[in-house]
Amino acid sequence: MAENQRPEGAAAPAAPSTNPLQVALQQLDNVAQRIDLSQASYERLRHPKRVITVGIPTEMDDGSLQVFTGYRVHHSLERGPAKGGIRYHPGVTLDEVTALAMWMTWKCSLVDIPYGGAKGGVICDPKRMSVNEVERMTRRLTSELMIILGPDQDIPAPDVNTNAQTMAWIMDTYSMNVGHSVPSVVTGKPLAIGGSRGREEATGRGCVCTIMEAAKHLNLPLEGARVAVQGFGNVGRIAAQILQTEGATVVAVSDSSGGIYNPGGLDVDRVAEHKREAGQVAGFPGSDNVTNSELLELECDVLVPAALENQITRDNAGSVKAKIVAEGANGPTTPEADQVLADRGVLLLPDILANAGGVTVSYFEWVQGLSEFFWSETEVNQRLHEIMCRTFAQVLEVSLREKVDMRLAAYMLAVARVAEASEIRGLYP
Ligand code: NAD
Repeated sequence: MAENQRPEGAAAPAAPSTNPLQVALQQLDNVAQRIDLSQASYERLRHPKRVITVGIPTEMDDGSLQVFTGYRVHHSLERGPAKGGIRYHPGVTLDEVTALAMWMTWKCSLVDIPYGGAKGGVICDPKRMSVNEVERMTRRLTSELMIILGPDQDIPAPDVNTNAQTMAWIMDTYSMNVGHSVPSVVTGKPLAIGGSRGREEATGRGCVCTIMEAAKHLNLPLEGARVAVQGFGNVGRIAAQILQTEGATVVAVSDSSGGIYNPGGLDVDRVAEHKREAGQVAGFPGSDNVTNSELLELECDVLVPAALENQITRDNAGSVKAKIVAEGANGPTTPEADQVLADRGVLLLPDILANAGGVTVSYFEWVQGLSEFFWSETEVNQRLHEIMCRTFAQVLEVSLREKVDMRLAAYMLAVARVAEASEIRGLYP
């Protein structure tokens, strides 16, 4: 596709959007022009393969019935079965889930694991639900999705507000329905039912691998580097803990109720303990409270947005002080903000690279389950490290060679691989 020529069907440049699907499509447009993507591949990749909307009737503890809405989107299955997390959040929309499914396609392709991209979401507020209500909702969701789930078809994993227990309920419901245990229908399971060692830490650990490689590239010693992390969940907390172990100074962390800051460094393990007891990081002794938006603009060397989308926008990108931004979350930076950061020389490690450790170890978990042979944690971490470093080097090489930012470089590699698979398979019928 010639440069400057807008792909057929692509939207005209419009006001900056924070709609994740608009962002994802704009990213695809940008890369389509750079890699000479054929019009046919472009059209196919703009559209999800399959979208399912389900009503999830759930009995609440008071005996009333509530029908939650859930989505599962398969974006592309050209390279293998559908892979992607399921999130529970009041703000879930179909556009968000579709964008996340598309990002999963690119992410699996970038780290070169044999999956297509999928994502699921349920509009609900699990913080206002009891454990039993969440379990009943999860089991009903699973039976509504039974027609597309399976270890060769669609393999969910945890995402925002879902965890290993959620995966155990999905695995159990699926297994009950087919009459035998099928551990490989989900990843991110507890160890007791076929989970992988190292899976829980994998996204944070993989993110740190890319930060370490980026720091090496910039000649920035990680020892003493100041780090701010937005989001203190599975990704953010683990990344903060590992970065601290590697010698970095974690100056700020946050969760949905706000953030804490200490320029001299926070003891991340003690913050985690405080959060377990108090339910939030705010109020941690010896720290100042900051808002989530203030955290993004703090004096630091490395910023890890590890919460939700659209946190770094054209309005605040100019105030980001970090030299490295590692996207632990999916889609935390808008395309306009990308441009501002690139112009200011900030090295941005895009989500499909920086948080690909989770799906990589999910893949290891699936492989271990299918072969019924389990690896040591050292082996898992070693293989993860290899894949993350190899992928970082490939993306950096394209970025330097083509003089593009790391996101575009990652997309150029990832989209080209998916398009190649699609073209080799051809069009059915
Ligand atoms: P999580 O539920 O474990 O943690 C999310 C954290 O973000 C929590 O600390 C929560 O309080 C905080 N948060 C929520 N809303 C916020 C807001 N408005 N401002 C600031 N903080 C807020 O979820 P997670 O698994 O850590 O996922 C975080 C991000 O990482 C998501 O974008 C997810 O898609 C992405 N991700 C997760 C994985 C994984 O393996 N868990 C893999 C790849 C990408």
